[in-house]
Amino acid sequence: MQHEEPARRLAEIQHAISRAARTARRDPASVTLIAVSKTRTADEIRPLIDAGHRAFGENRVQEAEGKWPALRAAAPDIRLHLIGSLQSNKAADAVRLFDAIHSVDRPSLVDALGKAVADAGTAPELFVQVNVGEEPQKGGVAPRDLPSLLDRASDRGLTIGGLMCLPPADVEPAPYFALLAKLGHDAGLPRLSMGMSGDFETAVTIGATHVRIGTALFGERA
Ligand SMILES: *Cc1c(COP(=O)(O)O)cnc(C)c1O
Repeated sequence: MQHEEPARRLAEIQHAISRAARTARRDPASVTLIAVSKTRTADEIRPLIDAGHRAFGENRVQEAEGKWPALRAAAPDIRLHLIGSLQSNKAADAVRLFDAIHSVDRPSLVDALGKAVADAGTAPELFVQVNVGEEPQKGGVAPRDLPSLLDRASDRGLTIGGLMCLPPADVEPAPYFALLAKLGHDAGLPRLSMGMSGDFETAVTIGATHVRIGTALFGERA
């Protein structure tokens, strides 16, 4: 694929997000498009930075450590989001590298992040991932265990800004997005990280503040 292609698609996706937001009587500026750059090379990513895009998502700490220090040097206001599962022993690295972590999902990770944030003296924006479909193979806290995980985060000095989900594949996602929105509302958490290439417009109409888009921008992953 041509490396200029993602920059053109970016504009189209931003337009679709704005349309969906206005349909739901929401301010389009309240939705952040996270360009999911996992597996993509620096040459594929740079045209988006050149086009002014600043929010990127990676799913592995190590891959991001290899790629982003050099890319970031060109634009210090880039915000890097960790959207993949995080091992507790990488919590300190993640706190150092990322501006937001979307995958806080269990007590041991809350404890590790509490320590890492205290040591670093700064905190990324944190989202708790909820396993909205209660799928055994997926990360995320079960909806019924969310309140106690939020209490634990608060006890460890962590501020949680919102919730994140990955709904079950191949079924209508809207009910799962609505569940996440209700859980966020009940917990007083204003941010919702939900919606990917195939369903971001639905997610925006249901209240997504962050959509995570890879394939629709860059093409299929190898
Ligand atoms: C890869 C990934 C995405 C992007 O998925 P696409 O379908 O390529 O848009 C979004 N969220 C998470 C957690 C991911 O791992």
